[in-house]
Amino acid sequence: MKAIAIEQFGGPDRLQLRDVPDPRPAAGEALLKLEYAGVNFIDIYMRSGRYARSDTYKTPLPMTLGMEGGGSVVELGAGVSGLRPGDRVAYCIVRGSYAPYAVVPAWKLVKVPADLPMAVATSLMLQGLTAHYLTHSAFRLEPGHNCLVHAGAGGVGQLLIQLSKLRGATVLATAGSAEKAEIARQRGADHVIRYRETDFREEVMKITGGKGVNVVYDAVGKDTIAGSIRSLKKRGLCINYGGASGLVEAINPLELGEAGSVFFTRPHLADYLQTAEEIGSRAADLFAAHAAGKLSVAIDREFPLAEAARAHQYIEGGRTKGKLLLRI
Ligand code: NDP
Repeated sequence: MKAIAIEQFGGPDRLQLRDVPDPRPAAGEALLKLEYAGVNFIDIYMRSGRYARSDTYKTPLPMTLGMEGGGSVVELGAGVSGLRPGDRVAYCIVRGSYAPYAVVPAWKLVKVPADLPMAVATSLMLQGLTAHYLTHSAFRLEPGHNCLVHAGAGGVGQLLIQLSKLRGATVLATAGSAEKAEIARQRGADHVIRYRETDFREEVMKITGGKGVNVVYDAVGKDTIAGSIRSLKKRGLCINYGGASGLVEAINPLELGEAGSVFFTRPHLADYLQTAEEIGSRAADLFAAHAAGKLSVAIDREFPLAEAARAHQYIEGGRTKGKLLLRI
């Protein structure tokens, strides 16, 4: 089959439609015919070599990209129960979805409800499950809490704002333009800060009466992390879950003390999707919130599979206002 793969780390130009072996399901696996692949920032880290030393997300070369997909079951390996050929399924955190077919461990698959469009189900996997674990597990938001969501108009950002509101928190969000600020507001942010024009930390302190927030969700990384740590309440939590502006290389422990004995974590989604039950219950929450009209999924753009390089340029250019999909 022809899939988007790289032979060396580098820029978007490395993404080529190449002949790769047809995948076959081993025991415990399912072979899927994909309709959509999600495009995510993790694909950029993997393509560029920034995750070359990661044990959680291995990047052996040559490598077919794509960590998220949606489609239907074609064939099952030995020992798989609870699935049948033809079932509509979606998944994330298995590499190789920029392709017409993929093999996925069956326990990682989520059944897609009959009335849920595959594009939406796929969009709720990597970014939705991330927003879910960030608001329910990494820091369990409760009514009375407040949080700061950076890049609130981005793919994860829009879902994070909505799930934080559903948990009853007050949401402060940052956005890089007037248009993005409006999107963050529409998603439910109580306060939106234009962080390229103002010092976001000063704004957070003004809004919170000098106290700071319980938790910062920061995936912008390099450009914002120092201000994020200083935007917290005493003993608050800084969750650095990505590095859209560059990965954070180091944190001075004494700085955490000076900021009010705050905590710092750098989580990977894979560690919050440890079992079929954990994946299933998070996905069920997301699907139910969407079905109830409480969780909007903004699909920003769809690109054909062959134009994966354009999708990478789009996301790396910071232009995304929601989900990017490859149509297979
Ligand atoms: P987004 O669509 O949110 O795009 C990233 C946003 O970051 C941009 O829209 C932009 O918003 C902002 N940004 C700030 N500086 C830059 C820059 N120099 N280049 C590009 N963008 C910049 O992407 P995703 O929703 O797919 O992912 C958001 C983040 O979440 C990524 O960092 C990703 O790695 C992380 N992530 C982490 C996971 C985890 O478990 N650890 C799992 C999933 C995602 P603005 O213009 O408003 O500044």
